[in-house]
Amino acid sequence: MNQSSTPKVAIVTGASRGIGAAVAQRLARDGFSVAVNYASSPEQADALVAELKAAGGRAFAVKADVASAEEVRAMFDAVEAQLGKVDVLVNNAGVLRTLPLAEHSDAQYDQTFDINVRGTFNTLREAATRLNEGGRIVNFSSTTLALNMPGYAIYNATKAAVEAFTHVFAKELRGRGITVNAVAPGPIATSLFLDGKTEEQVQAFAKMPPLQRLGQPEDIASVVSFLAGPDAGWVNGQILRANGGVA
Ligand code: NAP
Repeated sequence: MNQSSTPKVAIVTGASRGIGAAVAQRLARDGFSVAVNYASSPEQADALVAELKAAGGRAFAVKADVASAEEVRAMFDAVEAQLGKVDVLVNNAGVLRTLPLAEHSDAQYDQTFDINVRGTFNTLREAATRLNEGGRIVNFSSTTLALNMPGYAIYNATKAAVEAFTHVFAKELRGRGITVNAVAPGPIATSLFLDGKTEEQVQAFAKMPPLQRLGQPEDIASVVSFLAGPDAGWVNGQILRANGGVA
């Protein structure tokens, strides 16, 4: 994808840490100019941008709460001004609160839907008119959707919505040469997964896949790299479950 002299531009939402940071590192290595989006961790985003620049890449940290349509519009404006028109959008930003459905407060429900669903909606809506022809969109679902574990009802509902967006939006972009896919990770060793779990619970998750380990952020970054790169040109409207075979 990056054979021309002008580097392609990628936005990675929620790239200050976890999977998003690994995706930003990988896409920078692949030759993309990378916009590192964050909501509340400027130090981590700035440190990542400094690292990417030190390695010879072009990168830029951009604050935006993806749940805000206004901030997402401003993020696209800022990225276009700093790096150029966008080729790849990675909708990685997301939150997880594991709690039985009956124990969710209205505020917790709203926050999860606002970030995971509205956040993806906001960036997709901008991408519809602003992504370059031939661009790539990678959304984030989760393998938990296939596992139906107690405590995941609200989170899984948000990821079901993301999968629905993925299938339909791929068709709505007919004629633009843009692919829309989603990656659905299994358990990955990030704070989203690890926080609030005992060592015993973590080990139980690590034993679930036949590959018998937790995923690492780089396991998902390589899948995003594939979906954003030249070899995935014929993959469109698909959900790629990268989970060590857990489901
Ligand atoms: P993480 O380590 O908690 O990182 C989440 C990232 O999202 C952070 O960079 C955070 O940035 C950002 N973020 C949170 N709210 C935001 C908002 N409103 N606007 C913009 N950015 C926001 O999570 P992760 O494990 O890397 O998860 C990344 C994605 O993978 C999520 O969509 C998650 O649902 C999905 N996933 C993860 C796993 C797993 O096991 N880890 C499994 C399946 C799917 P700030 O700190 O700046 O807010």
